[in-house]
Parts: sequence; structure tokens; C-alpha cells
Amino acid sequence: MEKREKPILVTQPTMPDLGEFVEKLEDIWENKWLTNNGKYHQEFEDKLAKHLGVKYVSLFSNGTLALITALQTLRISGEVITTPYTFVATTHALHWNGITPVFCDIDPVYGNLDIDKIESLITPKTTAIVPVHVYGNPVEVEKLERIADTYGLKIIYDAAHAFGVEINGQSVLNYGDLSILSFHATKTFNTIEGGAIICHDEGTKKRIDFLKNFGFADETTVVAPGINAKMNELQSAYGLLQLNTIDKQIQQRKDIAYKYKEKFKGVEGISCLKDIEGVKHNYAYFPIYVNSDYTLSRDELYEKLKDHNVYGRRYFYPLISDFPTYKGLPSANRNNLQNAVKIADKVICLPIYPNLSEEEISYIVKLITNE
Ligand SMILES: *Cc1c(COP(=O)(O)O)cnc(C)c1O
Repeated sequence: MEKREKPILVTQPTMPDLGEFVEKLEDIWENKWLTNNGKYHQEFEDKLAKHLGVKYVSLFSNGTLALITALQTLRISGEVITTPYTFVATTHALHWNGITPVFCDIDPVYGNLDIDKIESLITPKTTAIVPVHVYGNPVEVEKLERIADTYGLKIIYDAAHAFGVEINGQSVLNYGDLSILSFHATKTFNTIEGGAIICHDEGTKKRIDFLKNFGFADETTVVAPGINAKMNELQSAYGLLQLNTIDKQIQQRKDIAYKYKEKFKGVEGISCLKDIEGVKHNYAYFPIYVNSDYTLSRDELYEKLKDHNVYGRRYFYPLISDFPTYKGLPSANRNNLQNAVKIADKVICLPIYPNLSEEEISYIVKLITNE
């Protein structure tokens, strides 16, 4: 097939209507209130909480600072059990808090933490579990909570991929002690950069809001060594407008995901993930596994796509536990992370975003099915 002229990237951000955004900007220019819990910030927090079906949202300047602050909120220390199959920010946030990550293997299909392997990793120093809802597919939350309750551990979900995901009609963000979201440009819901912590009671929300503003409780009271992680008014206004179209965007993602699934049915060596019963998915990513019975290796297919101007991404390869900062940890031993090693070696995430055209989907599919 001929190389297409215009590249197709793994994702493309959806942006709000420019005219509507300009109206908001004019209002901001008029009022000259740019950050520190302005009116758009307040309105966005309220509407977002309603939209997500959660009690409390605290907006952040990005997901990484939200996670760093979530760990501070609950004073997590010592060792934390987490996954090597994620974006580096998950583990870096632990590192920035002086916490030792303890890597646990993942399930061989969805790539989420293998709950059955967690107990054997618990030590007297373990204080929490930080799982990731990888690709937006929920972790086995109830099983995990039973373990956390038994051992007195906190759970902070890295839900960066899980905007809008529900289990039996309940937001996945309502599980665990805290969850964090990312609104980075590459995510399902974007505010250019941005993020949030979701919590379930007013006291915790207060503490989070102190921590994201240097620890200030009022003009003269600093209650904790906080950080600066506030979202500004421009991004809050932008986020408010995004809420108008996000449901439609997720429906468009779903249609694309189902087109891919249909076309890869029966293609030898390529497997897709099935929807999980009772789960409302957000189709944030479209991972395929390139198995050994496919005509090319995973990296050969990745390069072939690239040679044709299609930029899939190998999320998540390499494993976090293979990076220099972490590979010396006892839990980074690949023998104990065999499912993670296998999935990292066979995954490619294909382009998926609301504007991806029929023609572009066909082009990508044909490169893979060799039609
Ligand atoms: C994107 C992402 C983050 C970081 O979010 P930012 O908003 O980019 O800081 C954290 N964890 C996971 C799993 C992510 O995909």
C-alpha cells in the first residue's frame, strides 16, 4: 500500500467550539480573575462532579500533581504495591513522595493488577495499593477492597484512563479512598493539561484543596507543606465547554472501536479486548495484541504502520520496572512479572479519536490485515 501523505497519530484532541471559548475569554478578560478558585473553577468542579456521578472533585493543573498530592493527602509512606504496566507518572509520583514502589504482576488479558498476587507482596512497611484502570478497563475493585480492608491498606486509583467509566451504573471513581484523573491533551477528556482528585467526604476535599494551594487554609494559616497544583480559569472555562460534547465523543469512540473489532475478527494472530459485562467503557484506547501466529512481529508491524504514516503507540512498553530508576528494586525482577513482560511485548494501541474518519480506519485496518 502507498504511504499516505497526512500522518494519523494515536490520538487527536477534541477541542471546544472556538466561538464559545472566545466568549468565555472575553468574560475572563473583563473580570481579571485568572486562578485561585475563580468562578469558572467552581462551576467546573460542580458540573464535573455531577457529570461523573461522584461527590467531590478537586481540580488540578495535571494528573501527576494530582497523584503526588493524593499520596500526601493520606500520608502514604513506606512501600506501595503498584503495577509496572502503566505510564511512568504512576511510579514517579510514588518516588517523589519517597515511597518505594513494589511491582505486582498483571492479569494476562486486560493488563490490570493481578489481585491474587497482591497478598504475597505485603510487608510491615506496606501502606497502600496504587492500581491503574489500564485503558479504562476497571480493576477488580471489590476483590481488591477486601484485601485492602483485611490488611488496613489505603487504595488510591490512578484513573487517568477511566473518565466516564461505570461498573453496574456506578462511577468507577467511587471506589477506593481516592482516585485521580488526567485531562492531558491525549486523554479522553482534555483541558489541554489538567487533572483531578475524586474523594468521598467534605473533610478530605478540604485537605486536598489546602494541599494544592501551598497548604494555605486561610490568609495566614498554613496547615501543611503543600504544593502549587491549581487549575486556572482559562482551562476551567475550556473544561466546562468540553462537558457539553463528551458523551457524544465517547459514543463516537465506541463506534470506531466496534468497527475495528468487527474487521479484526478472524484475523490470525491479532486479538482485541472484549468489553466487560456490566461495564460502561470509554474507549480511551484501542490496544491490539500481536501474537506469535501473526505474519509479522509486534515491532515489525509497528514499523510497517509508521512507514505508512500511521503512528500507533506501544503503550506500555518498556515496563516501568525496566527503567534505570526502578530496575534495581527486588520487585522489578522480570521472573515475577511474567504477564507484564508478555503483554508489553505484544501490544500496540491503534489510533482512536472521535474525528478518525471511515477512510482512515480502513487504511489502518488494511495495513494490518494485508488485504
Ligand atoms: C496520563 C497519565 C498520567 C499523568 O497525567 P498528566 O496529566 O499527564 O500528568 C498518570 N497516569 C497514567 C496512567 C496516565 O496515562
